[in-house]
Amino acid sequence: MQEKGTISIHTENIFPIIKKFLYSDHEIFLRELVSNAVDATQKIKRLATLGQYTGKLGDLTIEVSFDEKKKTITISDKGLGMTAEEIKKYINQIAFSGATEFVEKFKDAKDANEIIGKFGLGFYSAFMVAKNVEIHTLSYQKDSEPAIWTCDGSTEFEIKKGKKKSRGTDIILHINEDSEEFLDKWKLQGILDKYCKFLPIPIKFGTKSESVEDGVDDKGEKKWKSVEVDNILNTTAPIWTKSPSDLLDEDYLAFYKSLYPMGEDPLFWIHLNVDYPFNLTGVLYFPKIKNDFELQRNKIKLFSRQVFITDEVKDIVPEFLMLLHGVIDSPDIPLNVSRSFLQADGNVKKINNYITKKVADKLSELFKKDRKAYESKWSDIGLFVKYGMISEEKFYEKGKEFTLLKNTKDAYFTLDEYREKVAPNQTDKNDQLIYLYATDIKKQDSFIDSALNKEYDVLVLDSPIDSHFIQHIESKLDKTQLKRVDADVVEKLIQKDSTYANLLTEDQSKSVKEIFDKAIQNKTYTVEVEGLSPEEFPVTITMEEWMRRMKEMAQTGGGPMSFYGSLPDNYKVAINGNHPLVDKILKADSEEAQVTLAKQAFDLALLSQGLLTGKDLTAFVKRSVEMI
Ligand code: ADP
Ligand code: MG
Repeated sequence: MQEKGTISIHTENIFPIIKKFLYSDHEIFLRELVSNAVDATQKIKRLATLGQYTGKLGDLTIEVSFDEKKKTITISDKGLGMTAEEIKKYINQIAFSGATEFVEKFKDAKDANEIIGKFGLGFYSAFMVAKNVEIHTLSYQKDSEPAIWTCDGSTEFEIKKGKKKSRGTDIILHINEDSEEFLDKWKLQGILDKYCKFLPIPIKFGTKSESVEDGVDDKGEKKWKSVEVDNILNTTAPIWTKSPSDLLDEDYLAFYKSLYPMGEDPLFWIHLNVDYPFNLTGVLYFPKIKNDFELQRNKIKLFSRQVFITDEVKDIVPEFLMLLHGVIDSPDIPLNVSRSFLQADGNVKKINNYITKKVADKLSELFKKDRKAYESKWSDIGLFVKYGMISEEKFYEKGKEFTLLKNTKDAYFTLDEYREKVAPNQTDKNDQLIYLYATDIKKQDSFIDSALNKEYDVLVLDSPIDSHFIQHIESKLDKTQLKRVDADVVEKLIQKDSTYANLLTEDQSKSVKEIFDKAIQNKTYTVEVEGLSPEEFPVTITMEEWMRRMKEMAQTGGGPMSFYGSLPDNYKVAINGNHPLVDKILKADSEEAQVTLAKQAFDLALLSQGLLTGKDLTAFVKRSVEMI
């Protein structure tokens, strides 16, 4: 038996096109060929289970090898094999059924995955790296003849009788000159590790050395020798394929370590498992978050039937959950996953919604089950939750039940609990509820202190996402404003009907303002004389809430906000007209003495807020020494 023929394709030569347009990720040829070997092996196993194959299955390990001298890479399986007729049917015809269409469309194709999947070119991706491909195969079917198919990358192929004696298929690639980089142990090992680490059939690649005991020497010490052992590179039943009830916490943690050897243990995880209306399994981990957001992204690996596809899961996982780690496996996401495909696919949107819901359910469960434990993890979880609430309305609805606010006394409250707590004392005369918060409890200590003295509560909102979160919840909560403790003097943060009258006359106030203007001599500070409680500080420096918040959001968010980032800082200097020190300044015997005292009082205020540095600090210390 020997037959020559032309691969049924109308267009003269498709391979140059494949090579030309698929240059970006040549390495996927190995993923495609090993996947085919896995498919063939799973099929024979299945036939055996069904009783349609009664021979011995034997060792089903798939072997990948290469020969540097002959310049070949071989993928061997002990799967179901093919008859000559099947080769004609599955390799020659099917692969090119879409060829005409392919040639018309190849111009628009953006990446290799897209073309390969769309046009069933899995096997033909071999020609990206090979100038010649041989298939040596023997079918499992009784009395079948071994066959050899060869093709040199033109549309001509040849089928002849082969010599293979055992069931299965060897694919031999004669690597072309441009692709000799693939004839390298580390290169191949790397590609196999990337795509094939969790395939369901054992895969062997070459051998590796291992030290084993080799008796004892004269002194009675153990001897060691190095032996070559098979290098099976994959875990055939990774945890996401198992049932959660068969898994212990250790298993999840060990798997996490295997994926991210450098990472700290995760906080908790979610085992995903659905089969309707789409099929999806996986394990998502909540990592401990450091502040380096970006480094933590793209940590979810996407698989299709245990074949690694990509770690760009942008459309499948909601944006705010991109910080999660772990794996997702869905046969409904085909191998030919590509950006444009994903966006168009209906399942992807459903998967996205499903993951959002699962994550919300898990958080809600953790919150209800053990609130103390949940609180202790809040500093890490909070980031996801806040990010989610800001970016997805659906998540906000769920998240508002298990979002926590922490105050300066380390107590935690849900949004509802907090409202109830502060409403009686922190509602201002316009019926607005004012939440006070600090972003830096050390620097803002004097303000926190003043607020606590008034029996106000102060929240701690100090993570990078908080300026956005504050803005968001303020827009959601009814008649509620958030103000940082240093946004104004305490009397004005929450304006009540009863305020202190300024005991200074108008003239006195005017001269106090002039004295301080002279002392400060800086246009970013605006001096105002106010009537505050005599217990309050004589001088307080504040920055108005709105302006400060816009500036902060500009720093972390950019976009339309960035305009605010370029505005100069603008502080208000509130002078407490009722403080005895102000009286003392007015009564000082010379203008010079007045200005010196004012300067001293102003510097003290700067000092208490961590704003006094450098030369100003030195001058202050010198002046203080002289005064003493
Ligand atoms: P797909 O895997 O999507 O079907 P491919 O182009 O990768 O497309 O393969 C085409 C067909 O060739 C397969 O469906 C299968 O019937 C056959 N085939 C490829 N490789 C093997 C193999 N190693 N053993 C048996 N059949 C194979
Ligand atoms: Mg295939």
